[in-house]
Amino acid sequence: MRVFIVGDMEGVAGICRWEQVMGGEPLYEEGRRLYTEEINAAVRGARAAGATEIVVMDCHGAGKGWSFNSLVPELLDGGCEWVVQQNWTEYTAYLEGGVDAALFVGMHAMAGTPTGVLNHTVSGTGWRNLYFNGRVVGETGINAALCGHWGCPVAMVSGDDAVCAEGAELLGPGLTAVAVKKGLGRSSARHTSVARARALIEEGAKAALKDPGAVAPYMPERPCEIEIELAESDVAKEYGRKPGVELKDSRRVASRAPDWWSAWRQLYL
Ligand SMILES: [Zn+2]
Repeated sequence: MRVFIVGDMEGVAGICRWEQVMGGEPLYEEGRRLYTEEINAAVRGARAAGATEIVVMDCHGAGKGWSFNSLVPELLDGGCEWVVQQNWTEYTAYLEGGVDAALFVGMHAMAGTPTGVLNHTVSGTGWRNLYFNGRVVGETGINAALCGHWGCPVAMVSGDDAVCAEGAELLGPGLTAVAVKKGLGRSSARHTSVARARALIEEGAKAALKDPGAVAPYMPERPCEIEIELAESDVAKEYGRKPGVELKDSRRVASRAPDWWSAWRQLYL
C-alpha cells in the first residue's frame, strides 16, 4: 500500500499563533517540532495499517528558505521519505505512479471561518475566497483535488474542529476526521494535549487506511473553473495576464480549463 501524507502546520495541536508557523520567529522552532511529531504519528499509523511506501509532502509556506521545508529532518520517523519543493503542488510524480490513499495532517480551515484557528486560504492577506466551479473551498479542497486528479482518495484529515467539519462536508461521511483542538477564534484554541493528539492521529490513520475506499477521490467537475477573489486589484491584474486566466472584475480572476489540474496550473506554475 502506497500512502501520501500531506502536511500543514496551522492545524497542529499546540499551535495557534502566526509566530509559531513563520520561519525565523523564535516560536517557529517549537512549532516545527510539534508539526514533525504529528507527521510521525501519521507515519506510524500508516505503517501499522500495512503501508509499504510512505511519502510526506510539507505544504506549509513558512517564508524564506523554510517554505515547504518546515519538517525537522533528524526527528522524522525512519519509515517515510519526505519531499521539499520549491513551489506548492510542484511534486506530482508519486501521485502519478498511483497512490492508495492520502492522509492530511495539521490542516486549517478556509479563510473567514470564524473559529478556524489561523484560518486562511493560500495567503492570509492576499486571498479572500477560492471557488471550484462556484463552490467555496479552502486548502483541504486544493490538496484533495490534487490527489483526486490522479485517483487518490483522502482517507483522513486532522486539525481543529473547523477544518474537520469542512473536510467532512467536502469529502463525505467516510472521511476520518481527527480534531486535535477546538478553535475559539483565529488565534485561540482549546488544545488536546500534545501526546493525546499524536495518539489520536496514529489511531485515526490506522483506522482510515483499513478502508481507503470509504472516501471517493475528490474531482471537481469537468470542465473546471477556478475563481479567486483577491484582496488587491493589482494582484488580480497580474493573474489576469496569464494565459487561460480572465479578469472577472477588479479583484476576481477565473481560470478555465478542461480539468481542475489544467486550470490550477494556469494560475500557479
Ligand atoms: Zn500552512
